Amino acid sequence: NISTWLQYNITRYGNGERLLLVRDVTRLHNLEQMRKDFVANVSHELRTPLTVVVGYLETMIDSDDGSNSRWQRPLHQMQQQARRMQSLLNDLLMLSRLETAEATTEEKPVDIALMLPGIRKDALALSGDRQHEITIENATQVRLTGLEMELRSAISNLVYNAVKYTQDGGSIQVSWSQDDRGARFSVTDNGPGISPEHLHRLTERFYRVDSSRNSTTGGTGLGLAIVKHVLMRHEGELQITSTVGKGSTFTCVFPPERLI
Ligand code: ADP
Repeated sequence: NISTWLQYNITRYGNGERLLLVRDVTRLHNLEQMRKDFVANVSHELRTPLTVVVGYLETMIDSDDGSNSRWQRPLHQMQQQARRMQSLLNDLLMLSRLETAEATTEEKPVDIALMLPGIRKDALALSGDRQHEITIENATQVRLTGLEMELRSAISNLVYNAVKYTQDGGSIQVSWSQDDRGARFSVTDNGPGISPEHLHRLTERFYRVDSSRNSTTGGTGLGLAIVKHVLMRHEGELQITSTVGKGSTFTCVFPPERLI
């Protein structure tokens, strides 16, 4: 089963002449495929041992009778880091699935409005000691044809990010609008904002604006890459606007054919 991948490029000159460049990119394509398979396999293989480690750590923490209290702090730290690793592996697997999955027949009507209260509740739980206000606007009739698990993942990533990066007392608006040109799902926060030079790189894998600030928020740097891929699979796109010191808006744009 040998296939060749060719890349075409046509340049038009003012005098009407054209230059056709054909490049054989089979090797590049195969290397890229190997990279994707490797990431998917390693993430998959690491999941089981990590589940065992997390399970035993939980048992050790729960069964503490006070006689070994000097181990409590390190055990909690190990548990926290092991959970971080788990969410990293889950995100990597999700990304690999998104990259490799072909057009699928699992698409069905998805009621986004039904998802939002649960996502809001989980996001508020992420706030920890901070207080956030999350309002949901205009989202009563919100239905799309698509992949439910993926759409949920994209939307929750955006809402969780708004909570993760917005300071105590911050407010977050989740809103929906639609017309004959399509639908827009937006998450707006009044957090720190992002300066323009970072905006076009945010959806790259592992790209984080400020890794020292981010090390406390426990993210993986894969969230927005996942959002971008989910939207691409729904013929949509992610738009980001942000002002430093004022806040950010992340908007998922869906084409009209997706609306029900
Ligand atoms: P992470 O796991 O680090 O949150 P993401 O891919 O979700 O990864 O986001 C990439 C980076 O974009 C984050 O590390 C953060 O610096 C920035 N970012 C994302 N959402 C926001 C937001 N609502 N406000 C400010 N910065 C954000």
